Amino acid sequence: MPLVSTRQLLDEAAKGGYGVGAFNVNNMEQIQAIMEAAKETNSPVIIQASRGARAYAQDKYLYHLMLAAAELYPEIPLAMHLDHGNSYETCVSAIELGFTSVMMDGSLNADGKTPATFEENVAVTRKVVDYAHPRGIAVEGEIGVLGGVEDGHGAGGSGLEHLTDPDQAVEFAERTGVDSLAVAIGTSHGAYKFTKKPDGSVLKMELVVAIHKRLPKTHLVMHGSSSVPQDLQDIVNQYGGKLKQTWGVPVEEIQLGIRNGVRKVNVDTDSRLAITGAIRKVFVEQPEKFDPRDYLKPARAAMQKVVAQRMVQFGQAGHAGDYKAISIADMAKGYKDGTLSTKPEVAKK
Ligand SMILES: [Zn+2]
Repeated sequence: MPLVSTRQLLDEAAKGGYGVGAFNVNNMEQIQAIMEAAKETNSPVIIQASRGARAYAQDKYLYHLMLAAAELYPEIPLAMHLDHGNSYETCVSAIELGFTSVMMDGSLNADGKTPATFEENVAVTRKVVDYAHPRGIAVEGEIGVLGGVEDGHGAGGSGLEHLTDPDQAVEFAERTGVDSLAVAIGTSHGAYKFTKKPDGSVLKMELVVAIHKRLPKTHLVMHGSSSVPQDLQDIVNQYGGKLKQTWGVPVEEIQLGIRNGVRKVNVDTDSRLAITGAIRKVFVEQPEKFDPRDYLKPARAAMQKVVAQRMVQFGQAGHAGDYKAISIADMAKGYKDGTLSTKPEVAKK
């Protein structure tokens, strides 16, 4: 299947009542792991690259690896998404390269660290939407600020400092016309999200419920949603790693979100842990090995396993064949003639 827009994937997910995992990549093995997991579970999929990934791998490598994935797996709907665009220019460069959807994270200033004002966020996000939609590209915005730092992006601190306000979420969706909305509900980027199994005092799932009530048709996005499973932490530490005990977002909380309008779930840390654990195991058990394939192969398999699990848990498994790709050119027409709505349905309080 040609690369499709996340808007189509998320519209279909809303019809089917499921969520779609958006998995971060930096290299070929991670893309291969995700595509094999998608094939194994018959799942539509979003692959996303951060600015850090684009700098690490170079845009062209990433783009052509994605094209290869689309070519090799014609039965899988696949979207290529820019994670945390920090400025209008970054989003434009991703669209010019061939990304089929972008996130404009206007919750922070272009430095990727300082929280922006609401008005600044609306203005830059609207500007990206005005550039993207006529080209058939979907836009994710963010309202509220997530915790933690990943790939040099983030305000740091806990995820509780700038939670999303449901009234502001409504105004933001109305004024920007975004296709999906990332919400800050206490989650953080990176491995160290929570210092104990999160309860309602740190993970504000009730905010998702409240925002979904006001914006029943808007696709919500959960960032920082790795579950950081104990067994993956244990493998890393068993083979010489020194991770401090940490907790992620429990899968059942993500599933509660999915029942309340969450359509895109961002996962990165779980993949990283799976890869690192598998590589450490080979290094400890077979120190005579020196062919990178000897450890990258099990690393890729370990990532495939956790990604496939998430695809089943998010409900996207089994849905790859539900629909045909809408071309990006036809998405552009849809935005123009209004068949792709950008005016959110707003319910009264
Ligand atoms: Zn994020």
